[in-house]
Amino acid sequence: MPRWTNWARTVTATPGELLCPQDDEELATTLSRAASDGRRVKIPGSGHSWSEIAAPNDAWLTFQKMPRSVVVEGELVRVRGASTLGELCDTLEAQGRMLPNLGSVTAQTVIGATATGTHGTGATLPILSAGVVGMKLVTGAGERVSLGPDDPTLNDARVHLGALGVVTELTLRTLPRQRLQERLINLPFDAVLERLDELVASHRHLRLWWLPKVGCVQVYTADLTDAPDTGPNALTIHLDRIGVQQPIFTMLLAIGRLLPALVPLIHRFAQATSFGDRARVEDLRRVLSMPVPARHHEVELAIPREATLDALKEWWALLDRADYVPDFVQELRFVAADDIPLSPCSGRASAYLGGYAANPSTAARYLPELLALGRAYAARPHWGKVFDHDHAELATLYPRWANFQALRRRFDPAGVLSSPFTERVLGPVSS
Ligand SMILES: Cc1cc2nc3c(=O)[nH]c(=O)nc-3n(C[C@H](O)[C@H](O)[C@H](O)COP(=O)(O)OP(=O)(O)OC[C@H]3O[C@@H](n4cnc5c(N)ncnc54)[C@H](O)[C@@H]3O)c2cc1C
Repeated sequence: MPRWTNWARTVTATPGELLCPQDDEELATTLSRAASDGRRVKIPGSGHSWSEIAAPNDAWLTFQKMPRSVVVEGELVRVRGASTLGELCDTLEAQGRMLPNLGSVTAQTVIGATATGTHGTGATLPILSAGVVGMKLVTGAGERVSLGPDDPTLNDARVHLGALGVVTELTLRTLPRQRLQERLINLPFDAVLERLDELVASHRHLRLWWLPKVGCVQVYTADLTDAPDTGPNALTIHLDRIGVQQPIFTMLLAIGRLLPALVPLIHRFAQATSFGDRARVEDLRRVLSMPVPARHHEVELAIPREATLDALKEWWALLDRADYVPDFVQELRFVAADDIPLSPCSGRASAYLGGYAANPSTAARYLPELLALGRAYAARPHWGKVFDHDHAELATLYPRWANFQALRRRFDPAGVLSSPFTERVLGPVSS
């Protein structure tokens, strides 16, 4: 049996069985047999989660032999099988369409990304799953179900953590292909605190990055524009796109791991060479998503939008007094509210605190401290990133928790899609 490992190489599994159904009918038989035999099945996407969410501990189901396609139908797009966000974007682009928003990379499967509530940034833009208007799945009981836009079940299933069944097809809303005008300005911390509300309100996309111990924040804004495409007009973006930046960055990370005292110096070098003020106009996809970065560890916490300034001050203070320096960029993003039961933005407009570190020993100290900070703000962790919450705690954080649990009991009564991860974060199916 092949060993399964996630992209970050932080989670591995040695499943006892590999299941490769060829079509929906065989998939339904596979799941109903598993339900009657009391076996557990897990289908990973592309493994781009840090949490154990995708680990196939018992039977590993793959879409290797299942059909995979992306079909544009007017303003909608139908995605089947293990198609990635990148493949989806390629097809949309060729037909003059785009997704309304994207996260930082497009290597994930569309089904995996929406399963965990993957998001981009922009105060008026919800998580990607909010754009799902149709879903076909085979439930844990082996029943083939099709959920349309008017079916109230669809909303409850939009973020499902792979715990309802195996999704075979999604239909998503799209927009006409457009360009973004991106601006990067570097601001001192005080100026960020003063201008944050205005920046959030006045831009379609807003992302804050900072490298610890540099003393300024990179403020990225991006807005729709008809201005002509400028291309990747900064050398560093161009180098990143052709794959030259990453080996350099990986080497700097390795130096920082060997000699942690050099990390602040490396950050100042990276800031000076890569993050000067600049502007460009490119397709939304090229502005918002970037090549997959060097391996690292991530915690990401959705807090109520109105708590952003307090949380940010506390987060900066934590990094100031820490006797370690996270060797990776730190990130703040904004996402609109929705009413999806397991969306981290359920019922509240949110800011996402993204704490990242590549050095495993720094991550082991930093990430728990950030999780503790988030608890004071009722933070909801990103399902695909590192977190230590259990279902008792999570149930208090999600107002529509019971809706999802009722759907889970209906779609997977025997717990075929359960795993040690779902036991911890969702509890047993019967609870
Ligand atoms: C470099 C990097 C950058 C990232 N950037 C962002 C970002 O900008 N914004 C953000 O929000 N997140 C981001 N993430 C997190 C990532 O988007 C999520 O973890 C996402 O879920 C990963 O998709 P995947 O295809 O790898 O799914 P996996 O991690 O493999 O699986 C996630 C879940 O989906 C389920 N699943 C997959 N396929 C099916 C199916 N067919 N039926 C039922 N369940 C299924 C799995 O069982 C599992 O429960 C990033 C991750 C990485 C590594």
